[in-house]
Amino acid sequence: MHYLIAGAGPAAIAAAERLRKLDSDGEITLIGAQPQPPYSRMAIPYFLTGKVGEDGTYLRRSSDHYKDQRIELVRGEVVCVDASAHQVTLADGQQFNYDKLLLATGAEPIIPPVPGMDDPRVQQCWHLEDAKKIIELAKPGARAVQVGAGFIGCIILESWVLREVDLTVVEMGPRMVPRMLGDKAGSLLRSWCESKGVTVHTSVRVKAIESSTQELQVILDNGETCLADVVIVSTGVKPRVAYLAGSDITIDQGIVVDEHMQTSAPDVYAAGDCAQGLDFSTGQTAVHAVQPTATEHGRVAAANMAGENNSPYKGSLNMNVLDTLGLVTCSFGAWEGVEGGDSAEMYNPDNYQYINLQFKDDVLVGANSVGYHSHLGVLRGLIETQIPLGSWKARLQANPISLADAYVGVNQAALQKR
Ligand SMILES: Cc1cc2nc3c(=O)[nH]c(=O)nc-3n(C[C@H](O)[C@H](O)[C@H](O)COP(=O)(O)OP(=O)(O)OC[C@H]3O[C@@H](n4cnc5c(N)ncnc54)[C@H](O)[C@@H]3O)c2cc1C
Repeated sequence: MHYLIAGAGPAAIAAAERLRKLDSDGEITLIGAQPQPPYSRMAIPYFLTGKVGEDGTYLRRSSDHYKDQRIELVRGEVVCVDASAHQVTLADGQQFNYDKLLLATGAEPIIPPVPGMDDPRVQQCWHLEDAKKIIELAKPGARAVQVGAGFIGCIILESWVLREVDLTVVEMGPRMVPRMLGDKAGSLLRSWCESKGVTVHTSVRVKAIESSTQELQVILDNGETCLADVVIVSTGVKPRVAYLAGSDITIDQGIVVDEHMQTSAPDVYAAGDCAQGLDFSTGQTAVHAVQPTATEHGRVAAANMAGENNSPYKGSLNMNVLDTLGLVTCSFGAWEGVEGGDSAEMYNPDNYQYINLQFKDDVLVGANSVGYHSHLGVLRGLIETQIPLGSWKARLQANPISLADAYVGVNQAALQKR
């Protein structure tokens, strides 16, 4: 059996290692477009602040790891998939046949159509190469403008502060991380960042970036101009799927997969940021571009590729946890609520604390929180197990921070019923 994997990120590596465990004789080939050994984008912020060197971003430390696992690494870019011929073609013309193919090509940054984006001092922060260029440009005291304050933007902004740059963030949404936090939570995050010396603009778009040899001028649509030595663009990502144009593989927001991580083509699977997989909360499919989902996708896809067709995926919980300059914010599941549902809220802005819980009947289905971290496991547990809260729902509505008590209480009650 020849397993071919397009991509060399966390989804691909999780899949390759699981395949090796399940099929000791199978041939495993992994094709990655980047020059480095497989690495984690999640580690880039630590690379930017010097907490780790380049090799600290590598997904596996030992250079012999892949050889030991009999996983062949090929450097190349897949440009065409012919599912009926069970064949992929690389940019350099090489062709590979497969019995089972996994598409794990991740995502790519969305670059807004703004004049001036092509200046070399305007950088995205996606590849290790980008991080190296930013390190050159974002010296202590430099003026940096970050365009976008989404999930990845709020992860990387800490790096600029730690690099002692003078940072301005411009977000077109009405608050920071608008797709993860509601109004109160997003506003708390904003005032926290401002208290750390970051200038934050929301509901503002960048119209153009003008450049001279000395500096960049970031022109905003509210009439203001920010002067900068470096501009970091973090305006969202989209699944990297252009190489599938012309194939029969169904693509919606990402590569659509079923509960076995299989695409619309026989023997072709997809995993990670490029895949639109089952969403635990809605039962629909969605792209959840975070690393835990990518590795889980990879493992489930591998089990199904190796013939364990009884390994359906329960779906990924929409879950984002951010630590921005020491303030932890999170969103879980249906954090915006469900039709006909109830909610509970605790808001303590002086201490940068906020919790919002969303219920469907007596089940917790979503949450937003700011300034708490000890309850994250409990929140996830209550939402993922969909355990009925019974009388604990009213107690949580009266006191939303009593989550740990609720968790213990409902689980004890469930045990007593058995
Ligand atoms: C700066 C930064 C910080 C982040 N921090 C976090 C965090 O704290 N928590 C979190 O959960 N997530 C974080 N993420 C997101 C996380 O990195 C992704 O969700 C994760 O990398 C997805 O893994 P993946 O394997 O699907 O894709 P990727 O990691 O993007 O890997 C895709 C692989 O496919 C290769 N490839 C692409 N196209 C082709 C092709 N045509 N042919 C061959 N190979 C190809 C690429 O070279 C790469 O090896 C962060 C992302 C960034 C950029």
